[in-house]
Amino acid sequence: MNCTVSLHTHLEGSIRPATFYELMGEDAKEKLTVTKNCSSLKEFLDKIAYGYPLTQKRANITRVAYECVETASKNDCLYLEVRFGPTLHTTGDMQLPDTIEAVLEGLQKGEKDFGTVARLIISTLRHATPESSIELAKLAVQYKNQGVVGFDIAGDEANFPAYNHHKAFEIAKLGGLGITVHAGEAGIAANVAEAILELGATRIGHGIRVVDDPKVVTLAKARGVVFEVCPTSNLHTGAVDSLEEHPLKEMVEEGLLVTINDDDPETSQISLRNEYELALELLENKLSRKQLLENALRASFVEEKVKNHLLTVIR
Ligand SMILES: [Zn+2]
Repeated sequence: MNCTVSLHTHLEGSIRPATFYELMGEDAKEKLTVTKNCSSLKEFLDKIAYGYPLTQKRANITRVAYECVETASKNDCLYLEVRFGPTLHTTGDMQLPDTIEAVLEGLQKGEKDFGTVARLIISTLRHATPESSIELAKLAVQYKNQGVVGFDIAGDEANFPAYNHHKAFEIAKLGGLGITVHAGEAGIAANVAEAILELGATRIGHGIRVVDDPKVVTLAKARGVVFEVCPTSNLHTGAVDSLEEHPLKEMVEEGLLVTINDDDPETSQISLRNEYELALELLENKLSRKQLLENALRASFVEEKVKNHLLTVIR
């Protein structure tokens, strides 16, 4: 069965250029998508930020969430964890709870219409204040039984330590949410250790630099930490210079648990299906599709009952 799962898909990187054009009246493909590799993660994030005016309207963000599930279903995606940063989408009449509810509405409608099970992760940002992260974590916990399953931190890894936000992660964890942290993407292996030890992450967004430090590899293995690897995104953000140099295979050889994800499919102009094909090529039979799917479903933050059902589907 050639199905897929994604645990790491950003809503902000899932705006179809055609939708942007229809809703904003502007052909923004050049600004919204990667036409050549970016020189840095920051340059890549600037492309994503270009979509914010569109998603600051309730009906629009619901539509983007709905289309995100539709796109996933076209990639035979069984299960999708979408993440987004609510603070980026607030305006005068859209407060934080409104943004979360609007996205959940789109995901739930998408799941109903297309069959891909979809859940939501709330992301704070590294450059945000610790207080705003705490507010977001409390809010995320309130929506725990309505489709929010996890808490994450994204953004400029090189310049802002995630540790500043440890209180927010405590709140999310105590509230029963799954913890994932972007680390070891544009930064060093020590950031992966920080995410595991200080923030309680059981999953790491990217984390590819883990291979640079055997001590961190040992730590991640001992804790059963799962890596959300996004190959093409790593190329586009400059985290790797070429796909040939991508450490995916090395991670598996080291005994780490990996999953394959699309990160920002519209920004990168990629498909989840192709990311799996690409990853399987890079892995050179070190891991099968079924093993990748099983890693992802086992590490997913979805309710146990749904998880167990999805695991039976891939067997
Ligand atoms: Zn990401």
